[in-house]
Amino acid sequence: MYCDRCGSPMAQRILEGKRRQVCIACKAVRYPDMIASVSAIVHRHHEQVVLVRRAIAPGFGQWVVPGGYVEAGESLEAAAVRETLEEVDMQLGTPCLQGVYSSPDTRILTAVYAIDGDFSRARPGLETLEVKLFALRDIPWSAVYFDITRQALADWVRKVSPRKSDLANGSCPE
Ligand SMILES: [Zn+2]
Repeated sequence: MYCDRCGSPMAQRILEGKRRQVCIACKAVRYPDMIASVSAIVHRHHEQVVLVRRAIAPGFGQWVVPGGYVEAGESLEAAAVRETLEEVDMQLGTPCLQGVYSSPDTRILTAVYAIDGDFSRARPGLETLEVKLFALRDIPWSAVYFDITRQALADWVRKVSPRKSDLANGSCPE
């Protein structure tokens, strides 16, 4: 690994109690960047939610919501729609930001969007074994992969459950 600033080799040092890559010549420190990802809670009128069964490791055979990494130059909303369409081919409404999640164990920062979708012509994409629409009370929580997916889905269900009849279809719950 070489320094971005002067091209000299980097070496590992402990700085403020953390392992860092430090340039041996100019002493520039490389701080690890966060990686942006998106997840999409695709729902039908806040009553049913789309889960997909993973056809790839990790979590093969378990349920997740559509999601993936954001490309540089792509908006978060566009990434949420693109990832959803790659995993489930269906009609989608406008993404509404639900929350942003991170964990000290990973470098991944996840923006979670809710998107109202028309499931009638939904088809699984290539990375997906199965696509299924679950009523909120039937979500298979113990088979939902990724802690952040489970947490974001639980937060959303809590937000929309008590008053879903008050929400206009496709609107962002406050
Ligand atoms: Zn340097």
